[in-house]
Amino acid sequence: MNDIIKEMERYAEANNVPIIEKDSIEFIRKYIKLNNVKSVLELGTAIGYSAILMASTDKSVEVTTIERDEKRYREAVKNVNECGLDNQINIVFNDALDVNLAGHKYDLIFIDAAKGQYIKFFEKFENYLNPGGIIITDNLHFHGLVENHENIESKNVLGLVNKIEKYIEFLKENEDYITKFYDIGDGISVSFRKNDENVKNIG
Ligand code: SAH
Ligand code: MG
Repeated sequence: MNDIIKEMERYAEANNVPIIEKDSIEFIRKYIKLNNVKSVLELGTAIGYSAILMASTDKSVEVTTIERDEKRYREAVKNVNECGLDNQINIVFNDALDVNLAGHKYDLIFIDAAKGQYIKFFEKFENYLNPGGIIITDNLHFHGLVENHENIESKNVLGLVNKIEKYIEFLKENEDYITKFYDIGDGISVSFRKNDENVKNIG
């Protein structure tokens, strides 16, 4: 499996697929192990890199992951099969905002899809969080740009950066959740419901 992971890293680099940074996925894997996470929902599969690394923490971990880009979805299916993890990882080919997961709840929700829609994702998917569960969000630094507005030339990029800032404000002001921000990888946040605080083991 290590070879497949290495090959995925190479593919991501060559094809500009924004896979998670090493420190961030290590943080999440540790959280999964320490807190006995059994069910994960991921928004934004890309080629399956983070889904595979989360599922491979333990045989009892089940990952549902959603991807709307067909080429990436197909690549993810191939990678998951090659790793022999198709019994643990369910890849849904759809727009996350159109998916209905009624009846399912997750211990960990990992938000890593379109950066401009983070508030929408949070508001939709918090309803699928198990008691004691957490929501982790990736790329809150957006490749360092959230801290460095002056250097941004593209209007689109500036729009996304503003949306990420709005999301950070939304998390800070959210009365129902406590959110901790970590300067790990490209910036991640961990949000949990207020009354769940003392049961978390963030390590
Ligand atoms: N989690 C992956 C990286 C995901 S990159 C990893 O770390 O390995 C973000 C992905 O989200 C892209 O492949 C993009 O196509 C997908 N995406 C963006 N918006 C989406 C949406 N609304 N629904 C489903 N997938 C989406
Ligand atoms: Mg990411």
